[in-house]
Amino acid sequence: MPPTPLVLASGNAGKLREFHELLLPLGFDIQPQSQHGVGDVEETGLTFVENALLKAREASRVSSLPALADDSGLEVDALEGAPGIYSARFAGEPKSDERNNARLLEALAEVPEGRRTGRYWCVLVYLRHAKDPVPRIVQRCWEGEILVHPRGDGGFGYDPLFWLPDQAMSAAELSAQEKNHLSHRGRALCALVEALAEQPGGS
Ligand code: IMP
Repeated sequence: MPPTPLVLASGNAGKLREFHELLLPLGFDIQPQSQHGVGDVEETGLTFVENALLKAREASRVSSLPALADDSGLEVDALEGAPGIYSARFAGEPKSDERNNARLLEALAEVPEGRRTGRYWCVLVYLRHAKDPVPRIVQRCWEGEILVHPRGDGGFGYDPLFWLPDQAMSAAELSAQEKNHLSHRGRALCALVEALAEQPGGS
């Protein structure tokens, strides 16, 4: 059977690569929204779930296909949860991972090791169609600590600053497979696939 087309409501190449690796073996051909003429929507929600819903609905409406949206970000305890839903644009527009990381280091300059705890969150929303009254929603987090200096050149976003005590590596030092296995996004996706299989109405 050919894989089922599914639109990813994101223009982020790093996410597209990670979802593609995870979903192809499960029979989904994830396609970027740009391929279907879907533009970015304004993320006006105050929570990850609201923003993910806005993105999935728009992608499904324009493409007339099922859509998957991910809204994710980094929550840092010493910064009262910032950058949170503003993770992608923490250092303002235009979005820049490098400037976001510099701003994060600056914001934590006075915070000692041991108090630099935080976590990535990932909320996934799957819509069968734009008017789907029952969005499938899952969320998972990935605990870590914020380094004082970047390490590694894999991953994307805050990965070079995201230290994983159990692995004794930053997220940017993991292989793509290791990151998919451990990450907020990889684990949320596994949970979503399970939820889709269990729910009446299927996918
Ligand atoms: P979104 O595209 O609105 O979901 O923004 C997510 C932002 O959160 C990204 O641009 C990154 O700054 C950050 N982020 C989320 N997940 C990850 C990850 O796996 N690694 C590094 N940064 C991430």
